[in-house]
Amino acid sequence: MKIARIETFLVPPRWLFCRIETDDGVVGWGEPVVEGRAEVVRAAVDVLAEQLLGKDPLRIEDHWQVGTKGGFYRGGPVLSSAVAGLDQALWDIAGKTYGAPVHALLGGPVRERVRVYAWVGGDEPAELTDQIAAQVEAGFTAVKMNAAGATSPITTPAETAAVVARVAAAREVLGPDRDVAVDFHGRFTAAGARRALAELAPLHPLFVEEPVLPEHNHLLPGLVTASAVPLATGERLYSRGDFLPALTAGIAVAQPDLSHAGGISEVHRIAALADTFGAQLAPHCPLGPIALAASLQIAFATPNFLIQEQSRGIHYNKDADLLSYLADPEPFRFVAGHARRNDAPGLGITLDEAAVRAADRGGHAWRNPVWRHPDGSFAEW
Ligand SMILES: [Mg+2]
Repeated sequence: MKIARIETFLVPPRWLFCRIETDDGVVGWGEPVVEGRAEVVRAAVDVLAEQLLGKDPLRIEDHWQVGTKGGFYRGGPVLSSAVAGLDQALWDIAGKTYGAPVHALLGGPVRERVRVYAWVGGDEPAELTDQIAAQVEAGFTAVKMNAAGATSPITTPAETAAVVARVAAAREVLGPDRDVAVDFHGRFTAAGARRALAELAPLHPLFVEEPVLPEHNHLLPGLVTASAVPLATGERLYSRGDFLPALTAGIAVAQPDLSHAGGISEVHRIAALADTFGAQLAPHCPLGPIALAASLQIAFATPNFLIQEQSRGIHYNKDADLLSYLADPEPFRFVAGHARRNDAPGLGITLDEAAVRAADRGGHAWRNPVWRHPDGSFAEW
C-alpha cells in the first residue's frame, strides 16, 4: 500500500483539514492547523507531502521522524502543526487498515468514558451564570472560561476583583461537585497572575491555564511555589522538549494540542513524559471534529488523562460548528458530560466529504483580534 494523494481543505469557521488517500483506496483525515495561520500551515503540508507520496502509510513513526527532523530547520507551530495533521491522517489509515480504533493500537483503552468540558463566556466574559446553568442542565460537570479581556500589565484592583467575582459566580452555580477551569490566556504578567491566583485559590478552580505567556515559562516555578491553584499550560508548546521545562517547573496539567504538538505520535509521548512528573493530560482542542477525534483516541489510551476540551458552541464557531462536517454526529453526542468510547476503526468518525469540499470552495480568512490598551499600545489577546 502506498500514499497516492494528499489534499487540504480550508473550511469555516477557521480550520484546515487534510485527506490522505492510498492506492488501495483507504482514506485518512487529519486537521493540520494553527488558528489564524491556516494558509501558512497549508503551504507547509504541501511541502511535507513531497516526502510522503509513494511511501507506505503504515510507517507512521518513520514519517514523523522525517517530517519533524528531515529539514535542517525544524520545530515551531507551523511545521509541528503540519506534521500533526498528517500524523493524525496516517493513524486514521492505520486503524482502518488493521480494523481497530487508534486507542487499541496505542495499547488499548484504559477507561470507558472521557470527561469533557464546555466553554462559557467568550473572549470578554460577562453574563456567565445563565450560560453555566445551561451547560449544567446539558449535563456537563465542568466548564472553562477566560478570566478577563485585555488586562493591564500590573493589574488594577478592579481587574483582579472582576476575575474573582466571575469565578465566585461560577462556583455558586456549579456547587462543590462540579469544576470551573480558568484560562488566563497569557493576558497576565507573572505579577498580575500572582495576585489573581492568591485570591482565586479559595474558590478551588480545577486549574488556571496559561498563567503567563509561554515565552515566560521560566517564571512558572515561582508561580507554582506561590499558589495552591493547579497550573496548566501547553497549547503553545509543540514537542516533548518544549514541555520538559514546564513539567520540571511543576505544572499540574499539560495541555498539548493534537493539531499543534506533532499529532497522536508526539502527544502520546508527551503524556508519558507528564506522567513521570505526576502531571495530568488535558489536550487543548477548541478546533474541529478531526482534532477532537484524535484527542479522544489519546484520552482513552492515556492513564494520566484529566479532562478534554471540545468546541461545541464555542465563541469562535461562526458559520460552522463541531458537527457541521460529520456524516454521523453520534461520536460527539456527550452523555452526562462525557464522551462514550468509540470502537470504530481509525479515528472513529466519518466525514461528510461533499460538505468539506463545498466549504473549501468558500474557504475562510480567520484571524484573531488584535487588542490595544487604552493608551494605544499592543495588548495580549
Ligand atoms: Mg487556552
